[in-house]
Amino acid sequence: RQVEKDGNIYRELVSSNNGALDRSGLEKATFVTLVRNSDLYGLIPSIKSVEDRFNHKYGYDWVFLNDEPFTEEFINVTSALVTGETKYGFIEKKDWDFPPWIDQNRAAGTRDRMGKEGIIYGNSISYRFMCRYESGLFYRHPIFNDYEWYWRVEPDVKLHCDVNYDVFKFMRENNKKYGFTISIKEYSATIETLWDATLSFLEKHPEHVNKNCMLDFISDDGGSSYNLCHFWSNFEIASLDLWRSDAYRDYFDFLDQWGGFFYERWGDAPVHSIAASLFLDRDEIHHFGDFGYFHVPFHQCPVDDETRLSLKCDCNPNEDFTWHSYSCTTKYYTVNQLRKPSNWLDHAT
Ligand code: GDP
Ligand code: MN
Repeated sequence: RQVEKDGNIYRELVSSNNGALDRSGLEKATFVTLVRNSDLYGLIPSIKSVEDRFNHKYGYDWVFLNDEPFTEEFINVTSALVTGETKYGFIEKKDWDFPPWIDQNRAAGTRDRMGKEGIIYGNSISYRFMCRYESGLFYRHPIFNDYEWYWRVEPDVKLHCDVNYDVFKFMRENNKKYGFTISIKEYSATIETLWDATLSFLEKHPEHVNKNCMLDFISDDGGSSYNLCHFWSNFEIASLDLWRSDAYRDYFDFLDQWGGFFYERWGDAPVHSIAASLFLDRDEIHHFGDFGYFHVPFHQCPVDDETRLSLKCDCNPNEDFTWHSYSCTTKYYTVNQLRKPSNWLDHAT
């Protein structure tokens, strides 16, 4: 296989898989996966599922990002599975590190304490680098320069249903900027001051709040407190321009200065979700209710029989999380006055 190196981007030159596809009508869009070499064999079923359910009909590209150089094995196996072009980006050390203003003793103290308290990933440094990178840095990688849209895929996920339309075209034509499948409440112990930080930011930058924003999804008291609802960001179909906006750049930089990625354990999911809910018009946020999706331990499985059967979903609607009481998706439908599936209450356990 021929691989070309251009700065921090390796590009697979021989794409043998897309010969029969006309890719001329595609959006400027790509899949993106942040991943370690050691995750390869958990990742390939994810890729195969996305290819079989969607991408073999379209041929979108796939960007892989890593804080270490990808192995030849990783490049060979993934490029054989993807219908579009595959690109391999290397994350520079400065983007996968502590910013210079972080107090190392304080950060280590948090990791110690959270580790002892049994908070998931509480003592991990790399998980914090990952959350910070996914929050505010991935879209600045030059590998995205020619793209406007992305679909995030992780290892060990699955698409349960066929996707028979171009989702990126759907996003553009319907003026959507952020699309999700599962929503859920965050562990409050990981984001103790995230809402305080957000309120301080909004005092400095009230101009960034959208007049028709979806504050009522993330707060039950008009903004005094955060209700912990967030879109589960292991799945995202979104506009890169959302994160490239002045509003988001200001917000991320403010949060980064605050230090909560290291003094607490802020996840990219609540950070993205709060930003989307404040800076976008509520109509720009979309729930892909017709998608079947799995990331351990939750499924989204369309409970409406007609949708599920016509899309050949291979999931059990009784395992659907969407309408479960721990999910925030019911709230999303309520605050936006959207119509829920007729039998949603049967699944609202
Ligand atoms: P969880 O879903 O919150 O349990 O976290 P994951 O372990 O799935 O990590 C989220 C994403 O970041 C996945 O796509 C991982 O492959 C990726 N990831 C996590 N840690 C690292 C890391 O240290 N290096 C790299 N390159 N990717 C990572
Ligand atoms: Mn994951």
